[in-house]
Formats: sequence, structure tokens, C-alpha cells
Amino acid sequence: MEILHTVAELRQWSREERNDGGNTIGLVPTMGALHAGHASLIRAAKDSVGYVAVSIFVNPTQFGPNEDYARYPRTFEADCALAQAEGADVVFAPSVEELYPPGATTFVEVEGLSKRLDGGSRPGHFRGVATVVAKLLIAAEADRAFFGQKDAAQVAVLRRMAADLRLPAEIVVCPIVREPDGLALSSRNAYLSPAERLQALALSRAVRQAEFLVSSGERRAIVLIEAASQIFAANPSIRIDYIELVNWATLEPVEVAAPGTLFAVAALVGATRLIDNTIVG
Ligand code: AMP
Repeated sequence: MEILHTVAELRQWSREERNDGGNTIGLVPTMGALHAGHASLIRAAKDSVGYVAVSIFVNPTQFGPNEDYARYPRTFEADCALAQAEGADVVFAPSVEELYPPGATTFVEVEGLSKRLDGGSRPGHFRGVATVVAKLLIAAEADRAFFGQKDAAQVAVLRRMAADLRLPAEIVVCPIVREPDGLALSSRNAYLSPAERLQALALSRAVRQAEFLVSSGERRAIVLIEAASQIFAANPSIRIDYIELVNWATLEPVEVAAPGTLFAVAALVGATRLIDNTIVG
């Protein structure tokens, strides 16, 4: 497995591998601190394309001024070992200056969607995400890019972006990987104290509850959201950010769940913001 640091190197690698028998190129964008969720994306990529690049880049433009950019976990050596073990061909680890050249003023703004769900509570977050993913897809000349349903609103924003910019890359979505007790894996779970780790189960419980209600025939947003609020209410140390039932493509709220509707929650457990979701209906 090669470790590349510049856009020119990544592009050259991609072109060489593609010309070597018409292979397809997959990209798995990450911020590092890799866990089994990331590993599942790398495996999905490996199963569906010829060559896989995993990018590891803690993207400053998607963090708000009071968020955790500086203290975000950085575990580069272990990340490379995991990527290699899962079959990645390349790790792309650029510097901030490599992706944002001095004086850079170009950003990708997916209007509308970028203000919904996480975009509502994290202004500028999806602008940063769309910008960096566009840069990575263009640099890698990827045929397919792999993302987790865990960040379902991000998927909606990136699908819209890829369609609007007519990027050739197909956006592939992979299922949420969970701990045995239900907690969705996240690099930010490392911030949780043992007590918070227990409280964090409220998110996956709320999601499972919504799945159960829908499978029992309940489809009204107001009922699904109220039931989830009750689960959070039992845990006063958790602050709800949002509980929403939305159309997964537009992220607009819906009153009744239909096939493909996204039920999504976000909450602060202590100082740690966690998200979870399910596709219902
Ligand atoms: P991150 O490093 O947090 O930016 O995540 C990189 C990619 O991994 C994103 O597409 C995430 O949606 C995905 N991902 C993170 N956690 C999980 C998980 N528990 N299951 C599946 N995919 C995940």
C-alpha cells in the first residue's frame, strides 16, 4: 500500500491504474481515527472497484469555530495499518495547504439542503464537506465514492452536489456499523466517559423505536418524534439537537413516513455531539 501526500501524486496513481486494463477507481473519504465503520466502506469499495484509495484528512472547513477540530483524534499509523489490512491500495493524506492552497477562495455550496439537519446546528459544515469531497473526487478521478448511511444528511448533500456538478463519480452508501449494544460507531465515541457511553444508547434506542413503530403500522411524524423525545427525556443529561422525519433526497420534513423516508436524531451527550438514523417505511 502506498501513502501519497499530493493531489498530483494521487491523480497520477489513478490514471496509471485506470490505464492498466481499464480498471475502476474507488475513493473512501475519511477524517481518520478509523474504526469498523470505515473498514466496512473500504471492503465495500474493494468488492466493487479495481483500485481503492482511502483519504485521511481532518478537514478544517467543516468544523465550526467552537468545535473539535484541534482535538479531533489523529491516529495516522493505526489508520494506515487498518486501511492496508482491509485491502486499500493507497492512503491519501494531504496537508491542509495541499487541499487549500494559500489564498484559496473557492467553495461548493449546496443551497437549501446544506441548512437542514446537521447543517442547521452546524452552520457552514456542509459547505466544508461538499468542498473537500469535490476536491477529493476531482483529484482521485474516482468512478465511485463510498460513504456511510451514518451521516445520512451528508449523503443527501453529496448526491445533490455530484448530480449538480455532473461529477462522473457514483455515490455509494453503505449501512451503519454498530457496537453490539446498538451504539453507532463514530470516531467521536472516543470522547465519551463510561457514564456518557451508557447515556449515548438513547440515540440508537430512539432509532430502533421508530423502526418498531413503523413496522407496527405507525407512520405519523408527530408520533414517531414524540416517542423518540420520550426516550431522550428519560436521560436529562442529554440535550436533543434534532429529531426529524424527512425526505432523504431533499431533507425536507414530511408528516408521514413513506418508503425511503429518513428518521434522524442528533444529540449532545455531555460535550459530545452524536448522530444516528434509520431509513423507515
Ligand atoms: P468520518 O471519518 O467520520 O468523516 O467518516 C468517514 C466515512 O465513514 C463517512 O462516509 C461516514 O459516514 C462513514 N462512517 C462513519 N461511521 C460509520 C459507521 N458507524 N458505519 C458506517 N459508516 C460510517
